[in-house]
Amino acid sequence: MLIKKVLVTGATGKTGSLVWQKLRLLKDEFEVCGFARSREKVEQLFGKTQGFVIGDILDPMALKSALFGCQALVILTSAIPKMVAPPSSGARPVFEFAPGEMPEMIDWIGQKNQIDAAKAQGIEHIVLVGSMGGTNENHPLNSLGNGNILLWKRKAEQYLIDSGIDYTIIRAGGLLDLRGGVRELLVGKNDDFLTHPPNGIPTSIPRADVAEVVVQSLKESNAKNKAFDLISKPENTPDARITIDFSTLFAQTTPGL
Ligand code: NAP
Repeated sequence: MLIKKVLVTGATGKTGSLVWQKLRLLKDEFEVCGFARSREKVEQLFGKTQGFVIGDILDPMALKSALFGCQALVILTSAIPKMVAPPSSGARPVFEFAPGEMPEMIDWIGQKNQIDAAKAQGIEHIVLVGSMGGTNENHPLNSLGNGNILLWKRKAEQYLIDSGIDYTIIRAGGLLDLRGGVRELLVGKNDDFLTHPPNGIPTSIPRADVAEVVVQSLKESNAKNKAFDLISKPENTPDARITIDFSTLFAQTTPGL
């Protein structure tokens, strides 16, 4: 079997690090390289920097050299809102983004840089993890730090589709730090899970399950040229069937934004 070389950006992030670790274990199928901006954070998380390239997604040259020889790219970078004023009783928490790291910069320019560099390097497939909610410009996440984060993410998704590179766009529901592989996963489109919530099911999913869907997207051909929303039934839901057949899951997804 041919080994696919994959660059994972945001590889020091909570989901990106899981993807990097999962791919690392699949040595017969993948050669994985993580892309991260902080050497210290890589060392802190993984004990060494082997298997990583240090760089910033705002630096096209760093992306170009990191993508050299790769066949696939997983985009798991994101602007990160930080709470600046702890909520006093009754007050709403206040969020802001670090200087130069507004969503327009990270989720639009930064993702566009990655897609452009991938195209220039002949990358065959990009898996992009984004967020549900982007069809609603009044979604509360857009007002965090005046960042319009979901709108910039959605713009980048459209840019990826228009790039002509095979794509898989995974728009996750609220991310949970819980174990993966024990839930039924559900795919949807157009934020239908938010506008018409399925009976009693929270619109959330463990990061570990999102990471597994990323890995499976790199393996299953029917994940290519698809964009979908992704949530999970809670663990131990009585009628749930734990998702193990990802080909069938991807068969329910569709092309286009
Ligand atoms: P995360 O932990 O916030 O990771 C984001 C990553 O992006 C970090 O590794 C960060 O680097 C990296 N990054 C940011 N700016 C960068 C730059 N200029 N150059 C290089 N790397 C940069 O991500 P997550 O919470 O796992 O979320 C994964 C995705 O799911 C995101 O797109 C998020 O918006 C989306 N999502 C989140 C939720 C939720 O409930 N939180 C729900 C749905 C979807 P550092 O490690 O150095 O900071």
